[in-house]
Amino acid sequence: MKVSRILRIHHEDALQELRRFLSAWWQRIELDGLLAPVELPDHAGTAPQVINCLEDLKFVNPFLPMMQTNSAPMVDAMTRDHPDRRFAAMLRPCEIRALVELRKRNRVHTPASAAGNHQNSPVLIGVDCSGTCTAAEYARQLEQCCESVLSRAALLYGCHDDDLPYPVRMACQMCDMPTPLGADVVIGSLDIAPQGHLLVISSNEKMDADLKLAEVTDGLASEAEVRTREIAAARLSEKRLSLRSELINKRTWQAEDLNSIMAMFARCTLCADCLDECPLYDGELSGMLGVKESHQRTNPLLTELVGVSRWLASCSGCGMCQEICEHGVSLTPIIVTLSHRIQQELNYKPGDPDQRLPWTI
Ligand code: SF4
Ligand code: SF4
Ligand code: SF4
Repeated sequence: MKVSRILRIHHEDALQELRRFLSAWWQRIELDGLLAPVELPDHAGTAPQVINCLEDLKFVNPFLPMMQTNSAPMVDAMTRDHPDRRFAAMLRPCEIRALVELRKRNRVHTPASAAGNHQNSPVLIGVDCSGTCTAAEYARQLEQCCESVLSRAALLYGCHDDDLPYPVRMACQMCDMPTPLGADVVIGSLDIAPQGHLLVISSNEKMDADLKLAEVTDGLASEAEVRTREIAAARLSEKRLSLRSELINKRTWQAEDLNSIMAMFARCTLCADCLDECPLYDGELSGMLGVKESHQRTNPLLTELVGVSRWLASCSGCGMCQEICEHGVSLTPIIVTLSHRIQQELNYKPGDPDQRLPWTI
């Protein structure tokens, strides 16, 4: 059973409270490093980095609505290079989904944390996510306000039914899982921060005890406090599901308007940056792109199509493929439409650690 604890926010500063908590927790469990979104110099947003000393926790900021890359593959790299150390990773829900899928595909070498006490298993800390901006939009927003205003706006989301005061990426508008699944610990903020408190939710009692969370939080959360966040998450999820159906059903993305899709791809230079950026892509399109010889197989096209379906079944919906494209190809609606059709067909929820990959026995 999950254990939900409270972190009381003082002076309406949820970020400081989180940093204080991380600092106390780091010392309590003798952490060696933390992969987290870290503020960059010159107001350039955040980027995932591994922090190796306590002092640098003052740069951690998972609330800033910006995401430059899906850091799921970095989790494995961090632990593989230093198998004797104890690490944690703070990820957004779509990054955890990607990590879970990578693990199912045996592309992650460290086992799931299983109570965070495996020397080689990072503790996964998930954070609620109200959505992130494109880099261009983020820069535009910063011309009008500062980082703390943006972080606060992101945290306020869920407290009411209004839209965010800035546009989030299309992938985020369609992301119906804004709360982390498969994390060891979740930092819950929807509908409760920045004025009130944050929730620190561990996946079970053993995890809660092993990670010594009782020693660094302000007591157990009440049922009402837990429920408030759950209601906000369900409301947000429902809103995004309906947005997604609306966007997917737009005539532009239907088969009869193939011309529009072809015209958009006319800008594509086949540079493959989008594929390189995808945490889950593993060469499934290389035969079609002529990178490898596939004509010796019995049924190459069919084999390639099955491979593509398998890749898209695991798509975490992070939208980083579109974010990296310098030629303005709008990949997200196509990827989301295809991946959701495939996931529905297979009755598969990417990122659910309890669900087996659909084509395995
Ligand atoms: S896709 Fe979802 S989890 Fe990822 S940044 Fe957007 S809203 Fe957050
Ligand atoms: S990054 Fe853009 S231009 Fe490059 S292959 Fe992908 S869609 Fe085409
Ligand atoms: S295909 Fe795009 S949206 Fe899906 S996991 Fe890869 S980068 Fe993310």
